[in-house]
Amino acid sequence: MTARAPGRVNLIGDHTDYNGGLCLPFAVPLVTTTTARVRGDDRIRVRSTAFPDPWTGRLADLTLDGRDGIPDWVRYVTGVLWAAREDGWPVPGLDLVVDSEIPLGSGLSSSAALECSVAVAVGTLTDQPLDPGSRLPLAELCRRAETEYVGAPTGGMDQLVSLLGTAGHALLIDFADTSVRQVPLPLHEDGLVVLVTDTGTPHQLAGTDSGYADRRAECDAAAAVLGLPRIGLAWPDDLSRLDDDVQRARARHVLSESARVEDVLRAVAGGDWAAVGNILTSSHASLRGDFAASTPALDLAVATAVDAGALGARLTGGGFGGSTIALVEEELADTVREAVDAAFADAELPAPTHVAVLPADGASVTRNG
Ligand code: ADP
Ligand code: MG
Repeated sequence: MTARAPGRVNLIGDHTDYNGGLCLPFAVPLVTTTTARVRGDDRIRVRSTAFPDPWTGRLADLTLDGRDGIPDWVRYVTGVLWAAREDGWPVPGLDLVVDSEIPLGSGLSSSAALECSVAVAVGTLTDQPLDPGSRLPLAELCRRAETEYVGAPTGGMDQLVSLLGTAGHALLIDFADTSVRQVPLPLHEDGLVVLVTDTGTPHQLAGTDSGYADRRAECDAAAAVLGLPRIGLAWPDDLSRLDDDVQRARARHVLSESARVEDVLRAVAGGDWAAVGNILTSSHASLRGDFAASTPALDLAVATAVDAGALGARLTGGGFGGSTIALVEEELADTVREAVDAAFADAELPAPTHVAVLPADGASVTRNG
């Protein structure tokens, strides 16, 4: 059987998920597919078209201690099987073949797409409930695979939107209580697209020495000073109680970013796309300044897109490399693309790649049997 799960862009709300704030991602029409077949023995065999060598192990290897000899990319798969077994799924010996249209490590969440496609494939084979109501715990299973098993401290947005995305909609996620709401996002109806620009500088989220892990630690430290479990639960007035300049700046980003998500919701409801664009660009300024999560290449892509006529632009998916998004009228998309290419060539940066996207559907089974 085969399952597919999409990547995502985050329209707005970056570094808010693990901080208990708001975000507004949507699934994109680029997918990872996993074809799964039950074997007659206790072996697990994993192959991906993105890597030359397959991996073979045993069900008994699916423990935290058993990770050590497993290649990094395989851990996104075995991590899901580990978490599924922890949740009581009767995982059998399996052959798993992975194929993806999503560039790896570019901020479009190939990692969550991989996890979710494996979870839906194996969930189907083992008769787990996969209806929309069952997808919150499924997303949590995939998040635990990435956080606790792979060791990448991601916040859960990517898995939720890969599983719950709906064409024509963004997914509002409130991480104060992990509640979700579908928000109509009539980009197509209003002649708009979101242009994703991959700057070609892969970000590295896994491990404790990444910028992402640093930011997470800084946010946790700020929350601890205020006696809160997560900094997104603070009030703006609380910021003055943070003596450390860095902690205060990180917290200011998280709180202002959640407020910008609410501003975008209002602007979208009012059909005011120019306002949406301006808020996206403000988000980038906050991620660059207060959160120090941008790079010169991301800044150049954003500034050039806005100069070339985009309504707004920002880094998406965490920063420290990866991709930007620009909200742009469909007929201007090529102009913006070409302007960014020219600016990158002038700056002697590698040529970026672009894809124009609209909100697509979340994970599903494409072939059962
Ligand atoms: P992003 O999720 O933004 O693409 P991450 O660093 O979170 O970036 O995840 C990328 C990693 O996920 C890859 O380096 C690889 O280990 C794994 N991965 C994602 N897609 C695939 C795939 N199709 N095949 C094998 N591994 C994959
Ligand atoms: Mg990822």
